[in-house]
Amino acid sequence: MVGENAVRMTEVYKKQIDVMPDYVSIINYVNNVEDNISLCLATEAGVVIADNVYMPSQAANIASDPSFRALMQGSPNTAIIHSKHFDSQAIVYSIRIENPRLDNDFLVLRLGLSLHYDSGYFIMMIPIIIVVLLIVLAMTYAFTNTLINNAISPLTYMQKSLADINKGVYHQMDIKSKYRDVQKVINEINIFSSKISNSVNYLNYEQKKSNFILDNMSQGIIAISNNGNVVLTNKATLNVFGTTKNLLGCKLSNLVEDEELVNKISEAIEVRKNILFEREISDKVYRIEVANMEFEFQTEDKGIVALVTFTDITQESQSAKIRSEFFANASHELKTPLTAVKGFSELLPSMPTEDAKLKCAEEITKNTDKMLSLIDDMLKLSKIDASVVDDDAELIDLRKLADTVAQNLEALAIKKNVKISIEGQGKMYGRKKQIDEVVTNLVDNAIKYNKQNGIVKVQIYDKNDTVFLTVEDNGIGIDSVHQSRIFERFYIVDKGRNRKVQSTGLGLAIVKHIVLQHSGKISLESKAGKGTKFTVQFPSAK
Ligand code: ADP
Repeated sequence: MVGENAVRMTEVYKKQIDVMPDYVSIINYVNNVEDNISLCLATEAGVVIADNVYMPSQAANIASDPSFRALMQGSPNTAIIHSKHFDSQAIVYSIRIENPRLDNDFLVLRLGLSLHYDSGYFIMMIPIIIVVLLIVLAMTYAFTNTLINNAISPLTYMQKSLADINKGVYHQMDIKSKYRDVQKVINEINIFSSKISNSVNYLNYEQKKSNFILDNMSQGIIAISNNGNVVLTNKATLNVFGTTKNLLGCKLSNLVEDEELVNKISEAIEVRKNILFEREISDKVYRIEVANMEFEFQTEDKGIVALVTFTDITQESQSAKIRSEFFANASHELKTPLTAVKGFSELLPSMPTEDAKLKCAEEITKNTDKMLSLIDDMLKLSKIDASVVDDDAELIDLRKLADTVAQNLEALAIKKNVKISIEGQGKMYGRKKQIDEVVTNLVDNAIKYNKQNGIVKVQIYDKNDTVFLTVEDNGIGIDSVHQSRIFERFYIVDKGRNRKVQSTGLGLAIVKHIVLQHSGKISLESKAGKGTKFTVQFPSAK
């Protein structure tokens, strides 16, 4: 730029000189130019004749000046020299002045411009530099921003995905990165996420399956760890001890209040002995089994050393109790007529008269009948107990059934002059033989425990999906102290009085059993000396 300026300025000075009127004016003009440039006029031999800085006599010959030499060689050009005047490097340019007013053929005008750093110029450039810098900065910012965004956005997404994995939410990252390494990490995270998701799903399934099985088991289970803590329980266990607390990690004594039971179980675990025993826990009987085992897992409190199982055997033990009572009662009830039969048969041969012999034979027949009817009732009960039924449920017309029962018992009723009346209608589904047994027993009792000329009223009716059958008599009635027990096996209100009637004490037990097996109910209202009313309810056939 300075070179171009030097050329342009030299030409401007040349034009000025060209229009000067005479030699003196030219010399004066050159001598008086401001000294921020150097300007001199020299002859073709390089002798300075005018100079704006030095007196011509003191000015050095410029023949050796490179711009002067370039001009003389016919190819004018700028050149850089060291300038004494500027005390720095300067750019010089020389040009021919062909002026007819001058003696010489031509003169040489040389102009020099300092190449020294121009602070004014720089200051002038500052705003431009600042603008350029700002533009560069803005462009750099925008560029680096997109660059960073491109690199960072997948990282942010990855961070979110990892946080989701932490929270248990597994999903695939559907982003692509331009950077191969970042893409590799994304792919790895996707594989990792799907593996974790599969494992967690599998574990969830396994856990749910185990919990489902455990909670649907009728047996209560407690697993005990090495340090005596409960590591597993199930719903049935919580039911056994009537609690809803989460007992995992607690001691056995937190769950089982019965100190003796805790000690028995703990002792068996301590001496590593498998035991099996029965115990009553809140009105129920359980078979408790302590099985020792060795399941080690990571830490002491996670392994299992023993499994305690609780099996509800209440019904089993009740049945066993009932059975043994039944056998005791049955043997006792059979023993009486059997002893009588034995006694009379021993007496029979020694009886003196035919009449006495006949009486003995009658007694033997009566007691044998009693035994037969006892055995018959016992068989019926045991059949019902074992739920052995001869026929399946069928539609039963209770009215028809009651009519037939009344006909069958007519002879008995006539003997006592008891009137039987039957009213109403009703149908149900059931086992006909068994329902017949119910009605027969009730009507039979109503006749048996009636007074002479008494009445028996059978009523059948339907009400709210239930069919009712009532058997009412105005006989001897049942005292309130006996009412709750008459359905028990072998329960007889008055043994003395009952000796006169065919009685086993099993009739109402059979009735109750059958009614319950048919999802029914039985109740009674009675007053001693006034009469009794039995009411049976069954689901109606309607
Ligand atoms: P049993 O074979 O002795 O009749 P049940 O079980 O049928 O046996 O009856 C039990 C007891 O209930 C009878 O011994 C009797 O004392 C009493 N009982 C049953 N039905 C009546 C009734 N209708 N009136 C009075 N007492 C009755």
